[in-house]
Amino acid sequence: MKMSRVGLNRKKAKLKGIFGIRARLVLLALILVGPLMVERIRSLEDTRVKQVTMASSELAALAERTAASQREIISSVEAVLKSSAYIHASASRIGRGCATLRASLRVDLPSIRMLMVAGADGIVRCSTSAIFVGTNISDRAYFKRAIETHDFVVSDFLVGRQTAKGTILAAYPVSAIDGGEEAVVVAGLNLDWMSGVMGNLAGRPGVTAALVDGDGTVLAAPPDQMELIGRPFSAPAEPVGSGVNDLGAEERAFFAEPPANNRAVYFAPIRGTTARLVVAVDETKVSAGINRDIRTAYLQLFLVCFIVLLGALIAAERLIVKPINLMTEVAQKFGQGDWSARVCRKQLPSEFVPLARAFNAMAAHLVERERGLVAINNRLTVMASIDVLSGLANRRGFQSRLDFEWMKAEQNGSDVGLLMIDVDHFKPFNDTYGHPEGDACISRIGETLAAIANEIGGFAARYGGEEFCLLLAEADRASEVGEMVRSAIAHLAIPHQTSIFQQVTVSVGVARTVPHPANAPRDLIEAADAALYAAKHRGRNAVVEHGFVRGSDSGLSMAS
Ligand code: GH3
Ligand code: MG
Ligand code: MG
Repeated sequence: MKMSRVGLNRKKAKLKGIFGIRARLVLLALILVGPLMVERIRSLEDTRVKQVTMASSELAALAERTAASQREIISSVEAVLKSSAYIHASASRIGRGCATLRASLRVDLPSIRMLMVAGADGIVRCSTSAIFVGTNISDRAYFKRAIETHDFVVSDFLVGRQTAKGTILAAYPVSAIDGGEEAVVVAGLNLDWMSGVMGNLAGRPGVTAALVDGDGTVLAAPPDQMELIGRPFSAPAEPVGSGVNDLGAEERAFFAEPPANNRAVYFAPIRGTTARLVVAVDETKVSAGINRDIRTAYLQLFLVCFIVLLGALIAAERLIVKPINLMTEVAQKFGQGDWSARVCRKQLPSEFVPLARAFNAMAAHLVERERGLVAINNRLTVMASIDVLSGLANRRGFQSRLDFEWMKAEQNGSDVGLLMIDVDHFKPFNDTYGHPEGDACISRIGETLAAIANEIGGFAARYGGEEFCLLLAEADRASEVGEMVRSAIAHLAIPHQTSIFQQVTVSVGVARTVPHPANAPRDLIEAADAALYAAKHRGRNAVVEHGFVRGSDSGLSMAS
């Protein structure tokens, strides 16, 4: 149970780390940017679909227009042939068929290369180009069909016998309009011209266009695909139900095969011929350009998002995390005792300035309090080592001074002297004169000891009760000072009826030593105490020096 709680807390801390202020700001930025991104992606995808649709419908329209142009060419050729047939028929009656025809033949039509008239036997009688006169075209399929059908006919792709060039020919039998002598007017179509009108289908990636005859041979192609002319067109299978032969009969709407393998194929029949315009569109190639544009737009979008997120991160770092770190650092320094540590407000955003100001004020306040406390503490330390009644140092003060002098003497190799002073028969004094008088007596003895200490450069203290001590830096004169103390107190001549001396007296125990690692301050006190005991034993109002053997090995030892 406990373990799982610890684990839970740890997880919480981890989560908090992950969802720090930076992560939260980035999340906020994402929440703000997200809907915009989704909207933009949606519109980009819309654009993609629209552009693809637009591209294919534009192509369809273009192909339809091109087919119309081709139909127009064929119609104009048919019109020329019809009028030529009419002229030929009328002129033949007066025996000037060829001459009249040559004079009236329109050779300025760019779609027609040449015109010729063949008799019913297939022998060319007259032509705009002399090389054809006399040739026999009776074996040509278009000629036969024209004779058979009595109607306008357009040939498939064929190679001219005289020119050895690929061409198509349109034929119109005179019998269609005149019952006289049969003849067939033939026009050689200008394939270059027919290719020329396909120019608007050129230069489009993924688009292959061709005018194809009934056999599937390419008659005309856009300028960039001219190499296809005369070759079989590798178009997909004919759309179902579009028999080539039916196409000539009526104008059929431009239609498309259902798209397969990303390839759409449009067929447009040319009325009156077996030919049709085929436009194959490779949609992957068409949409490649569009996709490239969309990809660039996506890249831009992601770049913008990246910049926004980066901006959010940098802003979080500079505006929030950095100031917090800065203030934390200063607070830590202050906590480690650098009382001068203050936050520099200039480096902070304005929102943090009140916090910095409050921190600095608090720091200044704490510093002042600390100073006060140190002063009070010092006073207390002094007070704690002073005895109020005697005005001398108390036992605590004495102890620390003794330790200090001991250490000093140990370093210098000098000796330390100690006087233990006890008031004689003080209990009876109290009993006789009362406690307040006893206190006054202690106070006077304190004053006297202070004066002597001052005189000899020693240190006087109240050891406890009616017992005093005097620490001497110059131990040589210790016994002498002991005597000085005893007589000074005697000279105070404080009356004491219950003492054999009739006045207040003191007994003094003297001890001295050279401090050494083998002995301690306590030994000196014990020795002085022992000497004091001896002085009391001698009858009081006396000075006894502790007779100890001087020497580093044995330390202090009793003489008696
Ligand atoms: P001796 O000569 O053997 O030292 O006899 P004494 O009576 O001085 O010794 P004892 O230890 O029996 O008595 C000490 C007395 O000192 C007991 C106590 O009433 C008195 N005394 C200790 N401190 C004070 C003080 O601060 N004020 C007063 N008025 N009396 C004190
Ligand atoms: Mg005593
Ligand atoms: Mg006493």
